[in-house]
Amino acid sequence: MPSPLGNEALGTYTTLRLGGPAGTLTVATETDEAVATVRNAYATGSPLLILAGGSNVVVGDAGFAGEVLLLRTRGIEVVRARPESVVLRVAAGEVWDDFVEYAVTNGWSGVECLSGIPGSTGATPIQNVGAYGQEVAHTIVAVHAYDREHGTIRAMTPAECGFAYRSSVFKHNDRYLVTHVDFRLEVSDESAPIRYAELARSLGANPGDRVALRQARDTVLKLRAGKGMVLDPDDKDTWSVGSFFTNPVLPAERWTALALDAPHWPADDGTVKIPAAWLIERAGFPKGYPGSAGTVAISTKHTLALTNRGAGTTAALLSLARTIRDGVQARFGIELHPEPVLVNCTL
Ligand SMILES: Cc1cc2nc3c(=O)[nH]c(=O)nc-3n(C[C@H](O)[C@H](O)[C@H](O)COP(=O)(O)OP(=O)(O)OC[C@H]3O[C@@H](n4cnc5c(N)ncnc54)[C@H](O)[C@@H]3O)c2cc1C
Repeated sequence: MPSPLGNEALGTYTTLRLGGPAGTLTVATETDEAVATVRNAYATGSPLLILAGGSNVVVGDAGFAGEVLLLRTRGIEVVRARPESVVLRVAAGEVWDDFVEYAVTNGWSGVECLSGIPGSTGATPIQNVGAYGQEVAHTIVAVHAYDREHGTIRAMTPAECGFAYRSSVFKHNDRYLVTHVDFRLEVSDESAPIRYAELARSLGANPGDRVALRQARDTVLKLRAGKGMVLDPDDKDTWSVGSFFTNPVLPAERWTALALDAPHWPADDGTVKIPAAWLIERAGFPKGYPGSAGTVAISTKHTLALTNRGAGTTAALLSLARTIRDGVQARFGIELHPEPVLVNCTL
């Protein structure tokens, strides 16, 4: 049976360390328990929040009045092994970075540049987690999800998952509980070709080169730690959700009309992605910029991370986020959108 806990502050379970109490908190260590909890909530029409690592949610100070399902399922299984590739089935609650470490140790290539990203494996398809030139859409071959509408678990193909930049059919959609994710990884001691210029420079390699898996993982972890992007309880620059805003994607004509000297990445579909961090800094919000008497602030290491400095509240964090969003809108006419899921609060 899942274990219900009462009235605990959800801030205990979020990387921001923010969020008021849960009505009920149910911890599921088995997939069956998690599915039963979701099925019962759907049958009775009670509100349910699925929470795993809590690293991509902003929970309101009033908390969540319904049931919170804390996913703690574990397990990694090889479901197909060929000389050139393996397919691994990973339980949703498995810690993502433990899986990456496991893959690197076993000589399985394809997720090494996603080292150090907090949270669970089951949450990675939700926003198509990505960093340093890799995203999970490159290696996912199926997402197993309990579909509340049909009352069954089914294996969804990558096309059905609708992966896009920090998005998928799962984001802002409570129809599915992801139970397992299947990844196809190459059997190789070398990384996938390095696509990200900053990472290539740090590795002393050229974009497109392959390097030792371990070297890729260690270098990514070092780069991320320097930006406060690896969780560290003693470093308040990491008390965040990672990037608070996504990078704006504009139609090419709009980008040209803006005539900005910003770094930018044109895509094949005629759109142009611009770094939100560049816009935020140019709009007058540098690293360390404080909000609400310094209880919350932009990280001192990364302009995109909004952090709780210890005495913060969700209200204060969102007020800082609004100030930044409105400042960028006023300066450039570009709207920033939040990357995390907002629970019982709005921007
Ligand atoms: C320091 C830091 C650095 C980060 N760096 C990156 C980065 O480089 N790239 C990146 O993409 N993200 C990054 N993130 C964001 C975050 O780590 C990822 O989005 C991660 O995948 C969230 O996992 P989680 O288990 O913590 O999800 P949670 O925060 O627990 O949940 C997030 C959302 O997914 C839903 N959800 C979670 N699990 C399931 C499930 N099994 N089934 C259905 N719905 C589910 C929740 O209901 C919620 O809506 C970073 C965050 C932090 C704090």
